[in-house]
Amino acid sequence: MPPATTSTRRHFITQAAAASLVTAAAATLPAAARAAAPFARAQGPGVYRYNLGGFELTALYDGIWYSPIDDGFVRNAGARAVNRALTGAFLKPNILPISITALLVNTGSKLVLIDTGSAGQITDTAGFMNANLAAAGIKPEDVDVVVISHFHPDHINGIKTKDGDKVFTRAEIMVPEPEWKFWMDEANLSRTTSTVHKYFLNAARIFKDIAGEVHRFRPGAELLPGIVSIPAYGHTPGHTAFALHSDGRSMLVMSDTVRNPYLFARHPDWQPTFDMDGALAVKTRRRMLDRASADRMLVSAYHFPFPACGHMVRAGRGYELVPVMWSPLP
Ligand SMILES: [Zn+2]
Repeated sequence: MPPATTSTRRHFITQAAAASLVTAAAATLPAAARAAAPFARAQGPGVYRYNLGGFELTALYDGIWYSPIDDGFVRNAGARAVNRALTGAFLKPNILPISITALLVNTGSKLVLIDTGSAGQITDTAGFMNANLAAAGIKPEDVDVVVISHFHPDHINGIKTKDGDKVFTRAEIMVPEPEWKFWMDEANLSRTTSTVHKYFLNAARIFKDIAGEVHRFRPGAELLPGIVSIPAYGHTPGHTAFALHSDGRSMLVMSDTVRNPYLFARHPDWQPTFDMDGALAVKTRRRMLDRASADRMLVSAYHFPFPACGHMVRAGRGYELVPVMWSPLP
């Protein structure tokens, strides 16, 4: 190692002297003149890229919905236990943060978007997916296929603008057949009340006038090379998860089988009211978590904290999320 030269040392001393002059000058300024750095008051783009074999995946953040919950939110656990789980994860009691992240899969030949965000039609703190798609350098018309996991508004609303125009103008739309059958059936609509009734009307708003263009698939089917649908019923009658396979690597896209991991991965047996068939949803959730942890599969889940991707490990009677570490693409 060469010895520190006189010039290097002199350079350092000069810099240090200049810095102390700046500090001294700042100390003589009035407070208002010193506060010259404006706050950004905005978040940076919510885009995270990672690879799975030959696929390039892009997590697209839509936002977060702070949903108030009441005492009966989990049918088989008391409010105290639920709030203990929330505060144990450093979250506020009585509010469920529902983070929303859609997944764009570039298979090398097709751009496939799995679920479409809330389109800003649910809460002010979500609806940023298209801005993040733009930040990722992709236009809505670049998307070839939109795949839907189920018909809840936070998954389908992004298909259309508030005015009813299609957002992904070129894309083929693929939906689970049993989900279509349930939500598009007017006899079911007339039998329901309150929240669920709203979901029926919303599904009709999104799909009715484009029904002829929507491709319905049977869960279990391979939708595109390397994208396989998995029946994951319970949350809704046709709720669907997905497995991605490329060049010997696999990943589980769990959709809404596990939402907030601090509640429902740690307590897989809890039955929240937004699972339409609570007991079936528990079976599905356990099956999914068991497969993910036993096979050490990478998972993504629509409502996990951004970038909504990581691994699941067994912990006690439940599971813990080990999030991916932000890394540059190899
Ligand atoms: Zn959802």
